Amino acid sequence: MAGEPQTDCLFCKIVTGDIPATIVRESATTVAFRDINPQAPTHILVIPKAHYPDAASLAEAEPQIAADVLREAGLVAAGEGITESGYRIVLNTGAGAGQTVFHAHAHVLGGRGMQWPPG
Ligand code: AMP
Repeated sequence: MAGEPQTDCLFCKIVTGDIPATIVRESATTVAFRDINPQAPTHILVIPKAHYPDAASLAEAEPQIAADVLREAGLVAAGEGITESGYRIVLNTGAGAGQTVFHAHAHVLGGRGMQWPPG
C-alpha cells in the first residue's frame, strides 16, 4: 500500500532504527540525518517516515508531509547555522538525475559556496 514501509528500503530501515544514522531532527512525519558521504560541510537528508519513491510521488499522495519535509529542511539549516550564508535543498528525482535511494529525500547542503548550474 502507498506509504507503507518497504522491507528492501535503506531509508525505511533508518526510520525504524534497523540501520543506524546520525539523526539531527525528528518530527511526527519526518527524520533528518547526516549523509554518510557528505558533499558539503553541512549535508543532511530529510526524509518522510512514510515510503514514497521520490518527492513528486510524496507530494501527490501526501502534500502535507511534503510540506513537512521542506519545513524541516529549513529548521535543519537554522540548526546548522547556515541560513544566513545560504544553503541548497536538492530533490534528485530519477536515476538519470543522480537518485540512488528510491525513498523520497531532500538533501540540505551548505557551509560552502555553491555553483550554478549544478553538475
Ligand atoms: P540520492 O543520490 O539523491 O538518492 O541520495 C542518496 C543519499 O543517501 C546519498 O547522498 C548517500 O550518500 C546517502 N546515503 C546512502 N546510504 C546512507 C546511510 N546509510 N546513511 C546516510 N546517508 C546515506
